[in-house]
Amino acid sequence: MTIREHFNTRKKRVLTALLACALLAVASAFVSVRYEAVFLLTLACVLTAIVVMYLAVILGFRCPRCRGQWGYLAMYSGGVFSIRKDLRFCPYCGVEIDQALGVDSLQPHPGSMRPDE
Ligand SMILES: [Zn+2]
Repeated sequence: MTIREHFNTRKKRVLTALLACALLAVASAFVSVRYEAVFLLTLACVLTAIVVMYLAVILGFRCPRCRGQWGYLAMYSGGVFSIRKDLRFCPYCGVEIDQALGVDSLQPHPGSMRPDE
């Protein structure tokens, strides 16, 4: 598995969770017209979606090599279920994101700037 595939899998999981929260919120909102207590479920779904999105952006997308935060870059660019296809290197450490994940394979791109140098 490459870093790109790793991020794409995470993005699919996050968006699937958000979609499930949205669908449940809409369904419970319709039901809450008849049964007012169900509105708490609607509220819980909306709050859950906000927390899931926040945690995904802040903690969910980290470079496996340098732990650089890819949150906004991964979530708000590219396709619905994939990161931008023209992203080839980590902007923080320069590792090629199409390399297979592994300890030895996470070498930086030549000429990249690393924070520890
Ligand atoms: Zn990195």
